[in-house]
Amino acid sequence: MNLIAAIILATIVIDLFLNAWADYLNLKMLQPELPPSFKDVYEPDQYRKSQDYLRVNTRFGWITGTFSVVVILIFWFAKGFPMLDQWVRSWDLGPIFSGLIFIGVLAIFKAILTIPFSIYATFVIEERFGFNKTTWKTFVLDLVKGTLLAILLGTPLLAGVLAFFEYAGSYAWIYCWIAVTLYMLGVQFIAPTWIMPLFNRFNPLEPGELRSAILSYANSIKFPLENVYVMDGSRRSSKSNAFFTGFGKHKRIALFDTLIKQHTTRELLAVLAHEMGHYKKKHIMLSIILGILQTGLMLFLLSLFISYQGLFDAFYMDYTSVYAGLIFFAMLYSPLDFFIGMLMQMFSRRNETQADRFAVETTGDPQAMADALKKLSAHNLTNLTPHPFYVFLNYSHPPVLQRINDINRVG
Ligand SMILES: [Zn+2]
Repeated sequence: MNLIAAIILATIVIDLFLNAWADYLNLKMLQPELPPSFKDVYEPDQYRKSQDYLRVNTRFGWITGTFSVVVILIFWFAKGFPMLDQWVRSWDLGPIFSGLIFIGVLAIFKAILTIPFSIYATFVIEERFGFNKTTWKTFVLDLVKGTLLAILLGTPLLAGVLAFFEYAGSYAWIYCWIAVTLYMLGVQFIAPTWIMPLFNRFNPLEPGELRSAILSYANSIKFPLENVYVMDGSRRSSKSNAFFTGFGKHKRIALFDTLIKQHTTRELLAVLAHEMGHYKKKHIMLSIILGILQTGLMLFLLSLFISYQGLFDAFYMDYTSVYAGLIFFAMLYSPLDFFIGMLMQMFSRRNETQADRFAVETTGDPQAMADALKKLSAHNLTNLTPHPFYVFLNYSHPPVLQRINDINRVG
């Protein structure tokens, strides 16, 4: 086994064990007694239910995680990659079309293996805890639409990347970087108005107390807001949320219909103030810039490794190719991706704290923000006592009690 193979194998195994260990620590933090300071967050029954929910999901995560590692290892060591490559080469379609087929077959293979787990998560786990509202029809339609969209959006991008690395010489990664960046910005720009409505219905919030409160708040912080949308989150789940997406003319703030049902106007205003805080604190722009820099780093490293013989030897390949190099490099890149991901989570948690603070300071209503978070976490069966190491690895938001403490400190 060569060095590259050893690095990739070690990464896969370490990643699996690290996550299992974090899960184990996380489960050990669960105490049967509802801690006194949490009394106004959860009913004792609801608290037990939230712990069950965590246990069930953790176990399910172990099963899916182990299964995917086993499948990858079998495919790798049974020489699945060179076999697929030989089959693709027998069609003699040239490097770009061969690449699209090679990567497309792997993607379809992966998608098919994921479907049963997705069915179980939706129709067994979420159902058992009373969250599931997805019908079989919605599930199948989502799958079809998601696949078509991935093909429609993914194929030109992939073909472009393959073509640059095939024909553009040593500056390929820079051309690729420019093209990928423009493409991603374009997709993000049109997503709120063209892509998201394929999956959900967005209706403008009806005129009334809530809408005028939101518009006058937005006006007070000079946030350019024309409309607030209500999204039919209840089509799939009773869990609730709100979000802000896109930029420029197409940016959009949306509240789930499930959220509106459960919260007071003050609480909803606090939630939206938090979302607008992300925009005012430039978190959205910063995330986009960080994403662009990450893409550049990845493409640069890709350019160094894409024709490195050791990378192809690691997967028993008879021939080198840009398309196979792309897949193998993605596996080699995963340790670095893991560390960058951790930094991005830290950045995200910092942003969430800032957005909470922004909401509290500009609404002058810390109580509403804290109440909104408490209700949200109880309703969504959030884990109140996650282990710090688990939080460090996985949480994009600080744990809810830390957020509430921080809010009370500001207020
Ligand atoms: Zn946020």
